[in-house]
Amino acid sequence: MHGNEVLGRELLLKLADYLCERYMDGDPQIKSLIQLTRIHLMPSMNPDGWQLATDTGGQDYLIGRTNNNSIDLNRNFPDLDKIIFTNEDDHIDHNNHLLEQLSRLNEPLQPETKAVIRLIMQIPFVLSANIHGGDLVANYPYDESRSGRQKDEYTPTPDDDTFRNLALAYSTHHADMASPKRKGCGDVDSNRFAKQGGITNGAKWYSLQGGMQDFNYLSSNDFELTLELGCDKYPPENVLENEWERNKDALVHYIWQSHIGVKGIVYDSVTKEGIPNAVIHIKNITGERNDDIQHDITSVHNGDFYRLLTPGNYKITAYRDGYLPHTRLVTIINRPYSEAQRIDFSLKPITLSYADSGTLEVDGMCLSRVAMQAIAGKSSAIAGRSSVDVKVPPYIRIQTDNYINSKIDDDFENSQQQWSNWAEENEPIIEPIAVQ
Ligand SMILES: [Zn+2]
Repeated sequence: MHGNEVLGRELLLKLADYLCERYMDGDPQIKSLIQLTRIHLMPSMNPDGWQLATDTGGQDYLIGRTNNNSIDLNRNFPDLDKIIFTNEDDHIDHNNHLLEQLSRLNEPLQPETKAVIRLIMQIPFVLSANIHGGDLVANYPYDESRSGRQKDEYTPTPDDDTFRNLALAYSTHHADMASPKRKGCGDVDSNRFAKQGGITNGAKWYSLQGGMQDFNYLSSNDFELTLELGCDKYPPENVLENEWERNKDALVHYIWQSHIGVKGIVYDSVTKEGIPNAVIHIKNITGERNDDIQHDITSVHNGDFYRLLTPGNYKITAYRDGYLPHTRLVTIINRPYSEAQRIDFSLKPITLSYADSGTLEVDGMCLSRVAMQAIAGKSSAIAGRSSVDVKVPPYIRIQTDNYINSKIDDDFENSQQQWSNWAEENEPIIEPIAVQ
């Protein structure tokens, strides 16, 4: 991400090599991981910054951080946090796939940012990490504080339990990220990280707008962490081998985390075809709890879905307009190094007709019109004897190429020049000097 923070680049190249080697050697755990997981590695998001940092000796805290246009890519993503904070203020539960609601940008998107947005929209990612240097901590969303306060404001997502677990999965498998005895990177905060297991909520550390981590969580089904992998942003070559050893288990273990929770297929009970764009809603009913996780994920192209969850009891509902919802109770165990529990959902299509008695029927069941409207959802309309006219809520639509282009192409940006006013309305966040 930041061109002068180079360790991740080397680690990912080594990781690719390691995975292939262990696979060929017949390592059962690595074979199983590769067979169960689609893994994407992007060693560098900012090759121009890396070149500049490298050409200038790699020792400056900031030179090479930005891209060739002097833009910090981890501040250049659309600010979807603002949309959810506004939704929350308006008592709207909607907290996922928010690109549809985006109508303005703080600044034009850089080519690197656009390319990554396309990637995240086109491929159904489940879990990811973006790698940095300058500190040693696993940072989880949100990065942007709710109030705009610059630091010390713990800003949890609806998936805080899961994100804390994901961050701990990395830190506790790293050589000393989670060790309370290790020294910090020079400021007071770093030592605090070690004492809290090597993890931090992003906004609790310092708030930032336009980061990739929050964007990915709020625009797609993906859960992302920001990994700070060392005090030294540009470590010398002779420590790379050791750094690999320190991070190897954590990297592999982290990829395994894409298999926590549940996965399955949502399908049409009549045609047996997979249903894309179905909403998967979770209620946590562990112990005395009975709370909705207000962050839905959606099924993708073949009706398949993946929902990361911590161990516990959950009520999981799959629904889509035009179908009766289906709820299942699930106990999540999360056995290590194995694939997620599989839970499928069979959705029964709603077909409406008027019976001679004047009531509405669903496959022979008589229901009142009010009940039918409730089932069919507020976007549906009942017209005469025809079937329900259902519309897929726009936010759960699978992101097609055209849709992506309409959101991030140049025309979109050019048509939104007036957004600069909006940016001025909002208090700029002055970043602390020690940027990671
Ligand atoms: Zn960074």
